[in-house]
Amino acid sequence: MAERMIVIGGDAAGMSAASQARRRRGRAELEIVAFERGHFTSYSACGIPYWISGLVPERDQLVARTPAAFRDEYDIDIRTRHEVTAIDLARREVVARDLDGGGEVRAGFDTLVYATGATPVQPEWARDEVAGVFGVQTLDDGAALLDWLEREPRPRHAVVVGGGYVGVEMAEALVQRGLSVQLVEQAAQPMATVDPDMGELVAEAMRGAGISIRTGMTVTGLSERDGRIAAVVTDEGPIPADVVVLGLGVRPNTALAEAAGLPIGPSGGIRVDRRMRVPGVPGVWAAGDCVESLHRVSGMPVHVPLGTHANKQGRVAGINIGGGYATFPGVVGTAVTKVCELEVGRTGLRERDATEAGFEFVTVTAESTNRAGYYPGARPMTVKLIAERPSGRLLGAQIVGWSEAAKRIDALAVALWNRMTVDEMTALDLGYAPPYAPVWDPVLIAARKAVDALADTGR
Ligand SMILES: Cc1cc2nc3c(=O)[nH]c(=O)nc-3n(C[C@H](O)[C@H](O)[C@H](O)COP(=O)(O)OP(=O)(O)OC[C@H]3O[C@@H](n4cnc5c(N)ncnc54)[C@H](O)[C@@H]3O)c2cc1C
Repeated sequence: MAERMIVIGGDAAGMSAASQARRRRGRAELEIVAFERGHFTSYSACGIPYWISGLVPERDQLVARTPAAFRDEYDIDIRTRHEVTAIDLARREVVARDLDGGGEVRAGFDTLVYATGATPVQPEWARDEVAGVFGVQTLDDGAALLDWLEREPRPRHAVVVGGGYVGVEMAEALVQRGLSVQLVEQAAQPMATVDPDMGELVAEAMRGAGISIRTGMTVTGLSERDGRIAAVVTDEGPIPADVVVLGLGVRPNTALAEAAGLPIGPSGGIRVDRRMRVPGVPGVWAAGDCVESLHRVSGMPVHVPLGTHANKQGRVAGINIGGGYATFPGVVGTAVTKVCELEVGRTGLRERDATEAGFEFVTVTAESTNRAGYYPGARPMTVKLIAERPSGRLLGAQIVGWSEAAKRIDALAVALWNRMTVDEMTALDLGYAPPYAPVWDPVLIAARKAVDALADTGR
């Protein structure tokens, strides 16, 4: 009889695991059943801001593989609109609720992949259903927001709550749709994933793009008129709004895992080993936004909810379940985004992370340009490096600039991954031609500056 693999969560991590396992083991050996509470499988939440802005015209462009394609091409039994409500490890079965048809299904498993993603942080005030207030976690959320934006009376004043990358991308999307946008952030600057000096550059660019930024402000409630959102209430008074988007960050979605007794790590994510197995629970695997990962620079367990990791982790789990061998060796915290034309990249530790992890370090900031200064379209680029003292090991890097800025972080991520020192980095053979870089690439200029800064400290 075929073994049965059950997947909870039909997006990046879950369906990567399912398809990799299927590639290695046919239907006769392995039956695969995936439960997904939404309507879609393998969709790109990352693309939602670009769908809302209108840059990506169709929702279906964000769906990499439909439930039907999984059934027909992969022989995977996808049960959409089925929410798993319990995992019984002793009986090795899951209980799922049919959200449309009603009723309950019980399904036994030999192998379980827990890939439920993350849940949006929802303060008390955001728990009440208020018409015109949206999250942007799923395609269904995106569709509801679009519907609101296109319905009469058309909203004109948007408030985005939260200045992380989702909030920043959504602020851009709404400005591009012609709304007036205010972004409210509790911290002193948006983009807390970079250091405050770099975040200030992002804030400046956002203001330049017409987004009003209200920092150091705490949202305390929502006020309604005639059953619709009327204002966001803050500690500094109300801000009128006819549409509100919440981007307050996410937490690992571990409710079912905790109830079943799966181990939770210090970051709040499910603990997994390098092969994405849940330690001490044979046959149970976890991947994606619900797990914690090893940070390869700090050595600490961290929760970094990004699609890039979810896909890789799901793939690793699937290869192993399929009888192969694969590992997920950890993360260095690389992320990129853009707000209007400004690009932002980061990798490794921020100053405060480096301090928390106990490193001694120097920081340098180099101002340069994306292209040779004389080449048309040359724009400013700021590169910040954090290097350990006295070793010179790169600990972190951030880049803010115009075109060609963000993906330059990849060279720095590779240097970080390979534990390079800034001294070694000064000699890196990076590409140069006037349309792409000054003769000394901004990354090399920053590395040279870091070597000088280390020398100044006597190393
Ligand atoms: C607006 C936005 C922009 C983003 N941009 C980027 C980006 O640019 N780059 C990047 O790397 N990442 C980005 N991300 C993050 C990325 O989308 C996630 O990291 C990725 O989707 C995680 O994949 P996952 O499979 O772990 O979880 P999810 O994609 O959250 O999938 C989990 C699935 O499990 C289902 N589920 C949960 N509980 C149950 C249950 N009990 N029963 C059945 N089904 C259940 C959910 O419905 C969901 O479909 C963005 C996210 C958002 C919201």
